[in-house]
Amino acid sequence: MARYTGANCKLCRREGVKLFLKGERCYLDKCAFERRGYAPGMHGQRPSRKPSEYALQLREKQKAKRQYGILENQFRNYYHRAARRRGVTGELLLQMLECRLDTVTHRLGFAPSRKAARQLVRHRHVMVNGRTVNIPSYQVAPGDTIQIRKKSRQLQLVHEAMKRISEGRQAPWLSLDKVNLSGTFLDYPKREDIPTAVEEQLIVELYSK
Ligand code: SF4
Repeated sequence: MARYTGANCKLCRREGVKLFLKGERCYLDKCAFERRGYAPGMHGQRPSRKPSEYALQLREKQKAKRQYGILENQFRNYYHRAARRRGVTGELLLQMLECRLDTVTHRLGFAPSRKAARQLVRHRHVMVNGRTVNIPSYQVAPGDTIQIRKKSRQLQLVHEAMKRISEGRQAPWLSLDKVNLSGTFLDYPKREDIPTAVEEQLIVELYSK
């Protein structure tokens, strides 16, 4: 599956909000958004006009896509799958994104960013229910166990990330066993628990036109 390979910090500057795409660096004053909190490009510092309704919807969609590291077609597919299900489409969309194996790996703290988590998965360092899974978009279900492979437990990336994790920051729909580098996906997350800063209703309005 294709992925964005450009500069991450430009995405935050474009969206006008910190998307936390680079792990530790995002919390330091090296953060590009802290230093240059305006849009990239030669016109980035121009005062912007009042955005149209469409522009607001588009920006929310871009923000969500960029936070989860997904390109347009795949994101649109998630929307259509969410829209076919019973329930609140925006919440279901976010739930599906949260069930992706790369997101779960990142939320458990095994990797400092989603991008790094995606690489862990692609390089076969992650197991689901005892079997290696190398598909970042794999949908994790309640009761599934996600674990770093025994051979991969010496990875510096994992240890550094685990050192930074504190009990208080754990997502309520996940439980973590730090000793065994293993976690359980307890249940589908509720919207109020998902810390993703997007107005999903605007995304639904955009796609349902
Ligand atoms: Fe965004 Fe992180 Fe770059 Fe800051 S350091 S601009 S939060 S990706």
